[in-house]
Amino acid sequence: MSVRLGKIMGIPVTIHYTLWFVFILIAWSLAVGYMPSQYPGLGVLTYWAIGIVSAAILFASVLVHELSHSYIAKKNGLPIARITLFFFGGVSEMTEEPQNPGLEVRMATAGPLMSFLIAAVLGALWYLGGIARAPVAITATLGYGALINAILGIFNLLPAFPLDGGRVFRGSIWKRSKSFIGATRTATRVSEAISLLMMVGGFASIIFGDFVDGIWIIFLGWFIRSGAETSLRQTLIGEALAGVRVADMMTRDVMTVPGNITVHQLVSNYFLVHRHGGYPVVEDGQVLGIVTMQCVRSIPKERRETVTVKEAMIPCERTVTVSASASALDAMNIMARQNVGRLLILEGSRLLGIVTRGDLMRTIRTRQELVT
Ligand SMILES: [Zn+2]
Repeated sequence: MSVRLGKIMGIPVTIHYTLWFVFILIAWSLAVGYMPSQYPGLGVLTYWAIGIVSAAILFASVLVHELSHSYIAKKNGLPIARITLFFFGGVSEMTEEPQNPGLEVRMATAGPLMSFLIAAVLGALWYLGGIARAPVAITATLGYGALINAILGIFNLLPAFPLDGGRVFRGSIWKRSKSFIGATRTATRVSEAISLLMMVGGFASIIFGDFVDGIWIIFLGWFIRSGAETSLRQTLIGEALAGVRVADMMTRDVMTVPGNITVHQLVSNYFLVHRHGGYPVVEDGQVLGIVTMQCVRSIPKERRETVTVKEAMIPCERTVTVSASASALDAMNIMARQNVGRLLILEGSRLLGIVTRGDLMRTIRTRQELVT
């Protein structure tokens, strides 16, 4: 659903599919609403050209904002898995949290600073364009670009975690209290209060007649709230899994299946008898692949007596593996990214073990109850 744009500074950049709708929505609202009211007397085509170019400038600005976070992160050795651009912003997916509050604050402020810098440059061009009597279409586009970047910078500075301002806030509490978890909890609570206020304000705005702005404010409030909850959950999971390796939680005595039995036999002798959702397929000590319930489901019932496991399985080249020395958090990220429920741990083509989503959840639950 998401389109890959390419790599910038070695980071894959993807566009979330919702962005196309937002792009059209923004171009449209500029072309038929904002621009005609601010700059009357231009042609329909000109308004649309301004709308489309301005929407493109908005997205480029969001991308540069995100890249400036990533730049500081990479310079300090924090890996960024990818950047996803979606509605009114982007997300830099960090695979690790910053290790110290100073870095968190520096990383978070880089984005809004960049937005204000772009706003200043476009604003200066807009001003000069006015003096030089440049065509209205150009000054209108520049003026909007400056305005939207200023709004972007201000919005992101709201102290509502996980927005940039909220990260600065968390970093400063973290520095004082020395507790990362405690700081995240406090920042999340403040963020939820702000989002609640925004939603109440949005409803009030609708009641008092400003329907469109009201909807926007409610939507942004909801967006912040769900972001804060997700971040808190991620922080708690990250803390619970700290120091755990794949080798600590993998199952070593794995039940495997031979490749030459039929899918029918696989169902009646394995899936209906044991509780596992997938089995590595092994022949002569060599792993050939993995067969899951989904593989079985893809074979029509009438063919299950003839098709063999080897034919139905996901072959080795396409199975997702992880090293035994990888961290539990890495294993979790791989599962999420590849959308699989189990990872094989191989040494060459020999099976060392298997780790499932269930193993991860159990480890997290146990450690949250007993350790943190
Ligand atoms: Zn930002």
